Amino acid sequence: MADTQSTPGTDLETFGLFIGGETVDAASGATFESTNPYTGQPWARLADGGAEDVDRAVASARAAFEGEWGATSGFERARILRDVAAAITENAERLALLEVRDSGKLMREMRGQLKGLGNWYLYFSGLADKLEGKTVPQLAPQTYFGYTLKEPVGVVGCITPWNSPLLLLTFKLAPLLAAGCTAVVKPSEHAPASTVAFAQVLHEAGLPAGVLNVVTGWSRETGEALSSHTGVDKLAFTGSTATGAAVARAAVSNINRVTLELGGKSPQVVFADADLDAAANGVVAGVFAATGQTCMAGSRLIVHESVKDELVAKIAERADSIVQGDPTEADTEMGPVANRPQYEKVMGYLDTARSEGAEIVAGGVANDELGGLFVKPTVVVAAPDSTIVKEEVFGPVLAAYTFTDEDEAVRLANDTPYGLAGAVWTKDVHTAHRVAGRIRAGTVWINAYRAVAPNMPFGGYGMSGIGRENGADAVNEYLETKSVFVEL
Ligand code: NAD
Repeated sequence: MADTQSTPGTDLETFGLFIGGETVDAASGATFESTNPYTGQPWARLADGGAEDVDRAVASARAAFEGEWGATSGFERARILRDVAAAITENAERLALLEVRDSGKLMREMRGQLKGLGNWYLYFSGLADKLEGKTVPQLAPQTYFGYTLKEPVGVVGCITPWNSPLLLLTFKLAPLLAAGCTAVVKPSEHAPASTVAFAQVLHEAGLPAGVLNVVTGWSRETGEALSSHTGVDKLAFTGSTATGAAVARAAVSNINRVTLELGGKSPQVVFADADLDAAANGVVAGVFAATGQTCMAGSRLIVHESVKDELVAKIAERADSIVQGDPTEADTEMGPVANRPQYEKVMGYLDTARSEGAEIVAGGVANDELGGLFVKPTVVVAAPDSTIVKEEVFGPVLAAYTFTDEDEAVRLANDTPYGLAGAVWTKDVHTAHRVAGRIRAGTVWINAYRAVAPNMPFGGYGMSGIGRENGADAVNEYLETKSVFVEL
């Protein structure tokens, strides 16, 4: 966990704000520390930006939008995005290490994630010069020639969580840059460093000053200053549903556009005919990757009653064998929970599960050998209406329960206010497609889990969000449509 106290005598890496292409201190001069959740030690000192700094960053983004960047053609933006992609790949190792230090995620996972990140900028570079309006046939009598123009929304405020800062920023940044917008980013106080370094890399790769600005800050007031700022035209937020609702209220009060990517409680539906070894592997990867701290975690296992014992035993065995430890070591399979408040929250949910009568079949406790913020990979068998089934834990916890027929499986899968993702495990092609169609979620995997791609839309139904990131349509989230009538 970071805190606002400074640690005397320690040699911390320092990160300023990034505004107008320059690294600057917060106007107040204040700083805060970021703590490595594996070592428990502070490792970085960051500028503690406030409302005044958000003002500066928004003004810088506005000047770039109305100046050099606004005058840059889509063809030129595409070229810059391709250079950005190459620069990210070149810097992937360094950026990945910053994320590992900030959040305790596995180096091998972050290395892979960062190496793949350039693909988003390459994909959206292909759209930057194809933002075409259309001519519109007029209703009779034909007195007008009509056509539409696609224009950038303007300055976008991006607010991101701690669990994959650069990936989740990229879901916003690649399409908004393709659209011709500019950005002010407020990364999470729990994992802020990589975003500052990233902005520097993109600037050096050719992104003009002011197009991408970063304001880090310890208190929620920094995010509030951005989400309520009247100089912002759109907000793109990833984080919890409660915070997303606050951001949406602030956006609406300024009649701003908003995209929300929020929480989830995604189901893994396993039918009796499924390949149970493949399903066990997929469920384990689906829920335990990144120590369960992913929005798309497949945290509910809904399994046919006839194979429940066999499947749960396979999953529990795999969970028990997961190697926990130093996130930078090549053979570590699970790191710590990312920060102290999140760790307390996970342990609280395990207490609640026990008190509500859940059967713990794997884990369920802290990993005492490692201490710190390590929770053992946990599998519980629980009632469908229990808290551990209903609420997002955002930790390494799988809750399992059973169904007897397809209708019940679908009803249980959809019995959630969320709708981010889900999976169907079966060898029957008819069941697979039918149930994929019946699950109310933005992404459904069949005999797979966790794939995301620049060209496939990602987002949530219900309380999991508003709008879509990724996919060609994502660029429309950052465009206005203008109608032009020409008298004939
Ligand atoms: P959070 O909601 O606590 O914080 C997200 C961001 O909002 C942070 O930068 C935070 O500083 C900022 N913030 C906090 N209060 C604010 C306010 N009042 N106004 C403006 N900004 C404010 O979320 P978190 O704990 O960082 O992340 C975990 C949550 O994110 C989980 O619920 C998870 O499911 C969700 N998430 C969703 C996706 C997705 O794509 N759907 C991806 C990753 C994480």
